[in-house]
Amino acid sequence: MSSVEKSPINQSLLRFGKKNGCVFLFLQSDDISGGSQGKLPDQILQIEKENTMRKILIVVDMQNDFVTGALGSEDAQKILPSVRAKIDAYHKEDAEVIFTRDTHGEDYMQTNEGKHLPVPHCIKGTDGWQICKTLTDGLFAEKDYTVVDKPSFGYTGWREVIAAQEADGSDLQIELIGVCTDICVASNALILKAFYPEATVKVDAGCCAGVTKEAHAAALQTMKSCQVEVTNEA
Ligand SMILES: [Zn+2]
Repeated sequence: MSSVEKSPINQSLLRFGKKNGCVFLFLQSDDISGGSQGKLPDQILQIEKENTMRKILIVVDMQNDFVTGALGSEDAQKILPSVRAKIDAYHKEDAEVIFTRDTHGEDYMQTNEGKHLPVPHCIKGTDGWQICKTLTDGLFAEKDYTVVDKPSFGYTGWREVIAAQEADGSDLQIELIGVCTDICVASNALILKAFYPEATVKVDAGCCAGVTKEAHAAALQTMKSCQVEVTNEA
């Protein structure tokens, strides 16, 4: 019995499978000289889920009007360096980055949003509508990142944009950053949770700014209740 245990084990790859974003390798010993006692049970190696996940960063509405323009704020200006660092980190590891742009027409004041918030902003084609230059400088020269123009707080076309391999999103790790925490970041985090219930949806609070500090904190709490992973909370 001891000689069997010491004999070299030749393992062969029997099967390869993928489920819920995990890769499984099924291995079996082909040393059968010791009869049933010498056989090793099938071994299943689960490679860390993290390694097979598709990482996507969504940079929400980091446009001039929300930072320095019509609806700008000090809090939004403060996060610029951290937002840039986060984008660079994804860029460096060749992960995906998607930018969204709040996008309105000249008729903004006649829209429902305009009636609730009578401050024209992010009118398509204006300087205020552009993503802050400091966040994109040098970036698009190297890679074409997706930019999504969205007419409302939450975007309903994520399925088409992300085109996940797993319908339930189990292969996705989506991180959201940007402004405003309590409007467009929260709206899209919850929409993504609805589209992709098995995806990991994260929000880096240190890279987000709300309409007010209180609204920012309240939105983080709501997202946490909805199982969005909130990191870097002050
Ligand atoms: Zn708007």
